[in-house]
Amino acid sequence: MSQKPMSPKPRVAVIGAGLGGAAVAALLQKAGYPTQVYEQAPEFSRLGAGIHLGPNVMKVMRQIGIEERLEAMGSHPDYWFSRDGVSGDYQSRIPLGEFAKREYGAAYITVHRGDLHALMVEALDPSQLHFDRRLTSVDDTGSEVIMRFADGNTETADLVIGADGVNSRIRETLLGAEDPTYSGWIAHRAIVDAEKLKAYDLDFESCVKWWSPDKHMMVYYVTGDQREYYYVTGVKTPDWQHGTSFVDSSKEEMREIFHDYHPVVQALIDCTEAVTKWPLLERNPLPIWHKGRLVLLGDACHPMKPHMAQGAAMAIEDAAVLVRSLEAVGPEHYADAFELYKTNRFERASRVQQVSHDNTWLRQEEDPAWVFGHDVTTQELKAP
Ligand code: FAD
Repeated sequence: MSQKPMSPKPRVAVIGAGLGGAAVAALLQKAGYPTQVYEQAPEFSRLGAGIHLGPNVMKVMRQIGIEERLEAMGSHPDYWFSRDGVSGDYQSRIPLGEFAKREYGAAYITVHRGDLHALMVEALDPSQLHFDRRLTSVDDTGSEVIMRFADGNTETADLVIGADGVNSRIRETLLGAEDPTYSGWIAHRAIVDAEKLKAYDLDFESCVKWWSPDKHMMVYYVTGDQREYYYVTGVKTPDWQHGTSFVDSSKEEMREIFHDYHPVVQALIDCTEAVTKWPLLERNPLPIWHKGRLVLLGDACHPMKPHMAQGAAMAIEDAAVLVRSLEAVGPEHYADAFELYKTNRFERASRVQQVSHDNTWLRQEEDPAWVFGHDVTTQELKAP
């Protein structure tokens, strides 16, 4: 396909304003690319969920310009503890806190997902962010891309980034329709009012994962003032009959599943007001990440079980490497830039997918430097 010469900065469309889409759009806009973002949701709400942001992600947040605000907003655990779910015995103590700043070059924080997302969306030019725009089809004509939306509107762009999540329309355009695979695991998510926990004579650690072979519970604060504590589970569940989205769970269901777990976990369940459950979906590494003027990132490209807490991290790392690749090669050579991007992301994203699938991350003492110490903002880009 011939590559039509473009003005210095091509018009980019980002499909999806999730964490990956917001990151790539913010970086592109900072680098002077006219970037429109199309999001299917009518608005974003503060859904009850938390997220870990390791030093590898915080370095990208530094580039976006929101690192300090995130540091102020998040909880800063000194350790990631892994403990036996039943006996409470410690299996690993992974140092974070000051150690992470010193050794990995940025903070390790845990934060409310909605607060993080709001901050990232704020970093975008509001006039270029379009809600309620569900992409239904794309047509790469060779000289531009025509995008059609569910509301009947049509837009054009020079390059289109599919940051549209696990059921990506752009992925489908590149590779054909194929549902993601249900991993055989679900996740429960609940935010617990930390005030209620004061009634218990127990130690609620800042970041701890309670383990047993067929289930686990990851627990951490999602606000710097430690008012909101959060748990997210992984529970082996052969069948999931509710489609691809989440449904309500209950305290009773949590009690039943975690009946044999430590008193700290029982206290958390007692204090639970609302809890949801989610199917965990995956795909095998994709053979194609880009074609013509279309390119994928994040869950559209490499969805994974969340058992390393690195899914969004990989989307955000993708964003940084994609923008660096366009800048390194020159956006008029977008096909080369997209290949450079894939070359520098495929191995790492696939490895993280695999470790997440295996659910072994930090279960025992191990050196997490290959994940946390990585710096996508400065890594040498290796040629395809
Ligand atoms: P998404 O966040 O899915 O965003 C896609 C966006 O595209 C959405 O806003 C969607 O509305 C929009 N969209 C979709 N289709 C269209 C369309 N046709 N037109 C327009 N817009 C569209 N990751 C971490 O790094 N740390 C964690 O601690 C962590 N914990 C997790 C816990 C659980 C239980 C789960 C399920 C995941 C967790 N993850 C975590 C993973 C993380 O949530 C995902 O990897 C991340 O959200 C992927 O970001 P994304 O931008 O690629 O996709």
